[in-house]
Amino acid sequence: MDFLSRNFIDDDKIWADIEAGEKASPADVRVMLNEAKDAQHKILDGKIVAALLHNKDKELDEEIFAVAKSIKEQIYGNRIVLFAPLYVSNVCQNVCAYCGFKATNKDLKRKVLTHDEIKEEVSIIEDMGHKRILMVYGEHGYDPHYLVDDIQAAYSVKSGPNGEIRRINVNIAPMDTEDFKVLKTANIGTFQCFQETYNREAYKKYHLLGKKANFEYRLNSQHRAVEAGIDDVAIGALFGLFDHRFEVLGMMQHARQLEKDFNGIGPHTISFPRLEPAQNAPISENPPYTFSDYVFKKIVAVTRIAVPYTGLILSTRETPQMRRELLELGISQISGASTVYPGGYKAQKTNQVDEQQFFVQDARSVDDIICELAANGYIPSFCTACYRKGRTGDHFMGLAKTAFIKNHCTPNAILTFAEYLKYYASPKTKEVGMNLIADELAKNTKKDEITSRLDLIEQGEGDQYF
Ligand code: SF4
Repeated sequence: MDFLSRNFIDDDKIWADIEAGEKASPADVRVMLNEAKDAQHKILDGKIVAALLHNKDKELDEEIFAVAKSIKEQIYGNRIVLFAPLYVSNVCQNVCAYCGFKATNKDLKRKVLTHDEIKEEVSIIEDMGHKRILMVYGEHGYDPHYLVDDIQAAYSVKSGPNGEIRRINVNIAPMDTEDFKVLKTANIGTFQCFQETYNREAYKKYHLLGKKANFEYRLNSQHRAVEAGIDDVAIGALFGLFDHRFEVLGMMQHARQLEKDFNGIGPHTISFPRLEPAQNAPISENPPYTFSDYVFKKIVAVTRIAVPYTGLILSTRETPQMRRELLELGISQISGASTVYPGGYKAQKTNQVDEQQFFVQDARSVDDIICELAANGYIPSFCTACYRKGRTGDHFMGLAKTAFIKNHCTPNAILTFAEYLKYYASPKTKEVGMNLIADELAKNTKKDEITSRLDLIEQGEGDQYF
């Protein structure tokens, strides 16, 4: 199969779906929403997605929000997985009009972390309580063996009595299948790559130079990764470059194509970065396609309904208030206490305009985020069990599409949260967290099994998981 130059994004179909969506009446939307509720494990038809996005009836929007929330709870329960990005390099050979990392930005201070520097950053991340990281690289054509060494350096760090990284996901430039095979040997979790915009013309306009200017090569990168054996792959679009409806429908086509080509294995996660100001990138200050926070909420909710089984990730690009609201609409993973430039954790400065990729809006500590999550009834989770138990690819998809995964997610969230409370939490978070765990245990059918594992954690035997 040609996983290098195929274009499986059908622009005409997307525009036709958008047009049909514009014509749908509130009565039509209600029927579609009911259909969507009954088709939980399938990716929704583009026309329905477009109609839900277009809907202007506030009452129906509230129903859309409620359905999104309930789908997330049915599949993943009330756990929210936490992770930290680790920027290893901001060196890039591409010229993308919206990004501060672009090769032509001479004012950006460039840095590639050494292994020792990676270890220092990881140690700080572990001391916050994190167990999973996303290693992020500027797009510079790194040799995959070099990446493997970096990843192994990160996995090797064990800080304090409980510190360790148990899953490393990577956000790196697309590579050929043979190189992905090398990368797989580093035991990575997910390969993540965003298409930025699914509209080919807009893509051409904003990706001016470098390998990234090749739309199709990027579009097929997840396919090549799966072909190489990395069967958890992640997609996303950078919202603000083109019509948001086109981007959502483009992501749906991408998800459907992955399912079609790989026996039902769709995207493991979907991300929703919004264009944020970046150095010497004027269009990032004035995005060509803006939309309100309310529309952004619709985008998240409709995506949750449209691809129910996928993890939905939210970064610290969004404000604390916006993150709070989006958690209610189906987000299942968030980053916390992030810095988005190489060496940022050691520098202890959240924003560093002449080194970072985007402006961080949520600068709260991990403990503050966790305390709030727990107070609002979410179980903060540091779980990495699926990847370590071999629940990846079609195995994971089978569990997520039948909502069975929740039976793993909730106990594992409780266990990893208890571990966090024991080693890292402030007294206030500990109090709020212990109350939440007691409530969760009372209603969990695996109560006895979880309780005996909690006893082991209390005795110092952390890393308990099902
Ligand atoms: Fe993720 Fe699996 Fe853990 Fe659930 S059980 S949080 S899906 S790793």
